[in-house]
Amino acid sequence: MNSILIHNFDQVEKASNSLYVIDIDDTLLHYYNLNKKWLSKEGEILMNKYNKTEALRKLYNKWEKELHKVIPIATDYYGINNLIQFCSLNNSDIIFLTARNKRVEEITRYHVSQIIHQNFPIYFAGGRSKGKILKTIINKYNYTKYNHIYFIDDIEENCESVEKELPNIKTYLYKF
Ligand SMILES: [Mg+2]
Repeated sequence: MNSILIHNFDQVEKASNSLYVIDIDDTLLHYYNLNKKWLSKEGEILMNKYNKTEALRKLYNKWEKELHKVIPIATDYYGINNLIQFCSLNNSDIIFLTARNKRVEEITRYHVSQIIHQNFPIYFAGGRSKGKILKTIINKYNYTKYNHIYFIDDIEENCESVEKELPNIKTYLYKF
């Protein structure tokens, strides 16, 4: 793995004419109670009742419902807003790439808007490999013009799949 471990957005390299691809959950924002602990606790209960596929489906559905009851917390409010300001002054852009399903687009946009006050594109991987999806997005939406592309995510497998599909992208493993 070639990712660089970081703990805030100020540690991300700032270069002009760049595209920053940022994950949402546990990278841009997190929830106080709806976290990894919640997922493993609820997951365990469902795994005892259903087969793995069914349990995961039910777990995600439950998570989606809970999403409407929680308030997002920025992992690094000043860091992300510094990066946004840097981008606006240096010919650089930000897009978000989340594993979430497009079904939760509206609530996702709302939660993101509580952390940052500008609209950026949000792409929904819907649980598919982020590397493959990002490759498609870059070509489809013409993100090929940048000198550098940076990918920031809290999950190692996501960084690895991006490194595999897009070896020129610099990846950061974000642990707030
Ligand atoms: Mg994440």
